[in-house]
Amino acid sequence: MSDRRIAVIGAGLTGTVLAMGLADRGHAVHLVERRPDPRRAHVDGDRSINLALSHRGLSALAKVGLDRQVVDMGTPMRGRIMHDRAGDLTYQPYGTVPEHHLVSVSRNGLNSLLLDGCELRPGIEMSFGHRVLDLDLDTGTIEMQVDGGADVHRRYDVVFGADGAFSAVRQRLQRTANFDFEQDFLEHGYKELTIPSAADGSYQMEPEALHIWPRRSHMLIALPNPDGSFTGTLFWPLEGDRLRDLDAGRARDLFADDFADALELIPDLEEEFRDHPVGNLVTTRCAPWNLDDRILLVGDAAHAVVPFYGQGANAGLEDVELVLDRLDTTDDWERAFADFAVSRKPHADALAQLALDNYVEMRDHVASRWFLWRQRIERWLHRLLPHQFVPLYTMVTFTSTPYADAAERARRQQRIAGVVAVTLVLVAVLVLIVVLALVR
Ligand code: FAD
Repeated sequence: MSDRRIAVIGAGLTGTVLAMGLADRGHAVHLVERRPDPRRAHVDGDRSINLALSHRGLSALAKVGLDRQVVDMGTPMRGRIMHDRAGDLTYQPYGTVPEHHLVSVSRNGLNSLLLDGCELRPGIEMSFGHRVLDLDLDTGTIEMQVDGGADVHRRYDVVFGADGAFSAVRQRLQRTANFDFEQDFLEHGYKELTIPSAADGSYQMEPEALHIWPRRSHMLIALPNPDGSFTGTLFWPLEGDRLRDLDAGRARDLFADDFADALELIPDLEEEFRDHPVGNLVTTRCAPWNLDDRILLVGDAAHAVVPFYGQGANAGLEDVELVLDRLDTTDDWERAFADFAVSRKPHADALAQLALDNYVEMRDHVASRWFLWRQRIERWLHRLLPHQFVPLYTMVTFTSTPYADAAERARRQQRIAGVVAVTLVLVAVLVLIVVLALVR
């Protein structure tokens, strides 16, 4: 065991995997979580969010030996199925080869599995119901409130802030000089809805796909669960007549207009509308992510993104892998933290933009003919030149290509695809002219 006193704040997806990775390297870790243990208590206000995990997240989970278990507990999604207003369906594969698929997994189920993994490691001490209130940067003392009651204080040499988008550790850093922070709330919120299984337990829609009802200003998506149900998420503008004020009765009318085929599958629409809270979606950017070798932010605490590329958790887990890789090569934690923070930041910023752009793509472009043609051309170019031309979605979702590099490469490829498309049209026109001339 090393003699560093280490705290990981936040026992979500990122914090648990980080704690396991550190424990596997011989460090004693105190994992501090404000909520009760989700495996033993129902957490109030908890939402049944499903996550799409892909290459980056699974790669990090493999480092703590849990990737297979996670794949087994999830449901594969091989493509997306678009539902138009008339209920007609269009299928788009996610990848370029059959092995390319996402894994739909319950966030709570995954979190519980990761907590079990922490519990199996004697080097990890877990404290639930401990909310971090403040941090003394000079002494490394953390002030925690236990179960909403008394405060306790404990000292650490290293504190990892894995405490999510509204991180208390980051808020402490925000009170230091030269710390940049910005947050942007999306003008759309979300509400979770359940599409239950059929009476015989079977799925009511194709299970191995993510379903989308794109409607330009808003959309509904649904991800499969292993029990035959789907978790639906309605993304809708917060303002105007919109999501926050939408009463349960009007919800049925709106669904009848916009998502008629889904409405048939959600018997408890009114109850769910009434009972489920409206979630907010935020992008945060901050720097620096570390304070010498004493504090490091990871996951949503460092870079929360909107969920439309399905990458928030994947990116947080990839952070963990990148941090552990650095700690494997040096004892100089200050250098390791700074190197991670500086080199990763542009990629987190690029992901934030990709996620925002993908919202427009998902709720609007996926329904357009031009988009579907572009996708076909991209797939065709990839088949023709597999190493030179890789679709952006493939790079982001099925490889570890750093996000900013993927975005830059995609811009170059898009120019090429545009030239190819124009050339094809010109050749077609030319052939037509020649044929017409010959016929005459
Ligand atoms: P969190 O999961 O937020 O965990 C932080 C933990 O810290 C929590 O357990 C919290 O209770 C604890 N904590 C907070 N404050 C304190 C404190 N003061 N003291 C002690 N503990 C504290 N990502 C994907 O990769 N794929 C998807 O398909 C996907 N879909 C999403 C859909 C929606 C609707 C949303 C909202 C997000 C989605 N995400 C997705 C993003 C993903 O949920 C997050 O990126 C991921 O959960 C971040 O993990 P984290 O561990 O960094 O933070």
